[in-house]
Amino acid sequence: MTVYRKWYCTCTGQPIELTCEEILDDEPVEPACEFCGATPSSDPKKTIIYRDEEDWDD
Ligand SMILES: [Zn+2]
Repeated sequence: MTVYRKWYCTCTGQPIELTCEEILDDEPVEPACEFCGATPSSDPKKTIIYRDEEDWDD
């Protein structure tokens, strides 16, 4: 079983899934809101939420 953490931003009034930029080099890339730019570690308006989704196919 694998757990995926999906991040959402609620700045538009409904949860919008955050999008990850393409990974360049080997640096971890944080997902960011395409509307307000908030990320899980930079969330001044407290609009970031997440859901853990379980994948039972493993
Ligand atoms: Zn946002």
